[in-house]
Amino acid sequence: MTSTRPIWAEISREKLARNYCRLRALAGPGPELLSVIKANAYGHGLEACARVLAAEGAQWFGVTCVEEAAALRTVCPGARILALSGLWPGEADRAIEQRLTPSVWTVTHLDLLEEAARRAGIGAGEMPVHLEIDTGMSRQGAQLEELPQLLARLGTAGPLRIEAVMTHFHSPQDPAMAERQIQVFTQAVEQIVKAGLRPEFLSAGSSADVLEQAGAAVTNLARRYGARPMLRTGLALYGYAPDGSANISLQPVLAWKTRITSLRWIEAGTTAGYGATFKANRRTRLALLPAGYADGFSRLLSNRGWVLVRGQRAPIVGRVSMDQTMVDVTEIAEAAAGDEVALIGEQGGDRITAQRIAELTGSIAYEVLCAIAPRVPRVMVE
Ligand SMILES: *Cc1c(COP(=O)(O)O)cnc(C)c1O
Repeated sequence: MTSTRPIWAEISREKLARNYCRLRALAGPGPELLSVIKANAYGHGLEACARVLAAEGAQWFGVTCVEEAAALRTVCPGARILALSGLWPGEADRAIEQRLTPSVWTVTHLDLLEEAARRAGIGAGEMPVHLEIDTGMSRQGAQLEELPQLLARLGTAGPLRIEAVMTHFHSPQDPAMAERQIQVFTQAVEQIVKAGLRPEFLSAGSSADVLEQAGAAVTNLARRYGARPMLRTGLALYGYAPDGSANISLQPVLAWKTRITSLRWIEAGTTAGYGATFKANRRTRLALLPAGYADGFSRLLSNRGWVLVRGQRAPIVGRVSMDQTMVDVTEIAEAAAGDEVALIGEQGGDRITAQRIAELTGSIAYEVLCAIAPRVPRVMVE
């Protein structure tokens, strides 16, 4: 551990590996499964998680930027790495150096990559790219009317080759909405195939699609065009099903822990924390935790959330401050300084999940996990 301040996140190798295998089995033998490890593997630690996934056979990884790709490359020299957010000016040379496969959807992307590919002496069709189509997310991806212009560029003898056509569903849990997006995607794929291009993969679908087996639509489409489906799964790897999708006994990979710093009794009528938002209505025993919003422990948990102490729930009292939080342990008589506390995780048969925190704070498990600050050491455990 790189810090003596007692707050850390334990990342379970075994649970991550098990979730990956579970998803692998669910996806079936056809689809390529791409493990999304962007944003420091959703806060779990990119390099360590990539090692575990690679050991289970993962070959494709999704990252956000060249920096993440470089970090991954150090531990997985042979991996295929997809940049999910395109690429920014100044990144193309490093993208090539890191053998990064960028998602592309603008002429600017093609310009940047072709120039860099020429500088690197890359031959015709030797640089794979994943062409993204906007099928309704309206975030990134080429719109249908932009396709001819892009295809004119990609169909020539330049260095770039469309290895995959990809899109992203905005409401994967809603079959009707996904179906509308599939229709637009189909039109795009048709145009691409008509232009004489033969993408190896059709890539669509996130955790929700693997869990809901809506990935079937992508699989059917891929089959029709002689391509392989690629499904990109993120959150489920870390043990959470996106809201509303089936739970297939995934196991949360991350446990967030701290220890009680000190304890005090306050009399009835005494307040606690900034703004005096908590007022004791009885003699109350408070435990101080070295976890605050600077650690990613949401201030929205003030007077709302709870943590686990000795397997029992200790309510958060007063405002969560930058580096500290107080919890009520009046009912937990044995609570003592040094006790291990679960902010996320299991203790004595009870558990608190990132999903539960998300519900308490009007957020989603994704954000709760990604918010855990870099100053919280990640520790790999079995
Ligand atoms: C983040 C991301 C995913 C993974 O989504 P999950 O819901 O975490 O499975 C898939 N595809 C793209 C393009 C993404 O940006």
